[in-house]
Amino acid sequence: MNNQDVLISMDDALPPTLNSFNLAGNESFLNWLLPIVESLRETEYWNKDHIAKIQSARLEKLFLQLSGNSSFWDNHFRQHDVKPNASSPIDELKKLPIINRDWFLAKKNTFVISPNIREGSLRYFSTSGTTGKVLAGAFTHGEIIVSYLPYFFRHRVFNSIGEFISRKFFLGIGRVLTEQYSSLGDSFILDHFASLEKKEIRNELYKKIKSISPAMLWAYPTTLLEFATYYRDDNIQLPLLAVRTGGEYVTKSQKDFIKVALGTEYIDHYSAREIGSIGTSCDKNPTEGFYHIDRERLIVEVLDDDGGEVPGNTEGNIIITVLDRTTFPLIRYALGDRGKIVSCVCGRTDALIFAGRVGEYILLPSGKRFSVLQFRTIIANLVSFRNIRNFRIVQESLDTLSVSIFFNYEPSSNQIDLFEKILSKTLYDEIKVSIKKVDAGFFKAGKSKVFENLKRG
Ligand SMILES: [Zn+2]
Repeated sequence: MNNQDVLISMDDALPPTLNSFNLAGNESFLNWLLPIVESLRETEYWNKDHIAKIQSARLEKLFLQLSGNSSFWDNHFRQHDVKPNASSPIDELKKLPIINRDWFLAKKNTFVISPNIREGSLRYFSTSGTTGKVLAGAFTHGEIIVSYLPYFFRHRVFNSIGEFISRKFFLGIGRVLTEQYSSLGDSFILDHFASLEKKEIRNELYKKIKSISPAMLWAYPTTLLEFATYYRDDNIQLPLLAVRTGGEYVTKSQKDFIKVALGTEYIDHYSAREIGSIGTSCDKNPTEGFYHIDRERLIVEVLDDDGGEVPGNTEGNIIITVLDRTTFPLIRYALGDRGKIVSCVCGRTDALIFAGRVGEYILLPSGKRFSVLQFRTIIANLVSFRNIRNFRIVQESLDTLSVSIFFNYEPSSNQIDLFEKILSKTLYDEIKVSIKKVDAGFFKAGKSKVFENLKRG
């Protein structure tokens, strides 16, 4: 089979006995995975038209499976005149409306889960609800494997995959591994963000690390930053290949610090519970929020608020069609994130720069908007992230904004004045920024959101 066919048929080829919990040391998993990863490492350099052939074939399969097995989706397609076996499935796709969490919630979720096409029990999930709307759905064991693992292993740091998956080869620090990785890794749970401060906790962690000898660490960037600081000071040496983060914005200076302190590759992963793997950072591109998209399993569109295509290199709403999930299909789904499609210096095409959640903007009196992600980066660079334990931004009114910072040191009032002046200037002096010194307790009372936008109304 050629690379294209391997990728088109990867879900059908998955051995039915596999599930998330029996992957380590499993030969049938390895035999399935290896040709797929090899193909993915080829296709990442393919041009858009060539990739579209894989996408079209998988999309046609999805249309046919859904229209044949789910009256809900069959009706949805008919309503919008989508012909499942038309010659250009991608043109058919564009007839469908953009859907989002509200759309699913209005359908009361259960109506959209089509009959399970594969054998095996369903796994239920719900999204984290950071947007205030929890989306609940389901997928099969097979769908979990297909939608994550090949894209995880496509990174070239995994040169001898067989060795890695013969054991638990990575360790989650401060986070429990999600189901798809559970048989391949282990976790070290931390009570809260600051507990690596304690020497005895660190010693326990080092003991755990020595006992499983992980090739990779997995954590939130804030945890890794702290770990990297101590790692150096405690003079620890471990045979680490890579660190992997996800789910939190990370600046270039933070990445560089972690890479140097731990002497590893840095892999930043963009994913969403309801979608699976979306993309992975590029070693050759330090742009913040930059990811190469998993185009072999996703069709990603960037559209304006009215659903129109935006010109290349322009920011818009990220709309995703997932090609390998039939249990809880996502077809032209607005994830709620914004970004833009770009190309990369490494030669790979169709990358994405994540620009933040919808609504994560500071509104200025003049009507302009300022990205919170950008503002966060400016704070981190201004104060230096090593001096910040945690912070929170609240836009209190159209012309006032407060930044509550839990400092690692005692800043002078002159310094605070200077920070305030620079941050106000960043917002074109249209908004008065005030800095409040707070302690750990401030962040415990349900105030985990980094940004609270202006409530209008
Ligand atoms: Zn690249």
